[in-house]
Amino acid sequence: MALLPSVDPEVCAGRGECLFIAPQVFTIEVDVASVIGSGPDELILEAARACPSQAITVIDAQAGAQVHP
Ligand code: SF4
Repeated sequence: MALLPSVDPEVCAGRGECLFIAPQVFTIEVDVASVIGSGPDELILEAARACPSQAITVIDAQAGAQVHP
C-alpha cells in the first residue's frame, strides 16, 4: 500500500499526538497539524487512529480508497 494522509485543519486540536507517532510525516504550526512527508504505512495508520479529533484521513493511493476513518 501507499497510504496518503491529510489533516482537516478545522477539526485538528493541535496537541500533537500524530507528530509524536510519526514526526517524519506530520508537523504542527500555529496549533494545527499538517502533512510534511511520507512514512511507513503502519505509522501513518497508527497516527490516524491515535488522533482524538478524527482529523486525519488516510487514502490508499493505489486502490483509490479511503482506509481511515
Ligand atoms: S493527532 Fe489529530 S488533533 Fe492531534 S495534532 Fe494530529 S491531526 Fe491534530
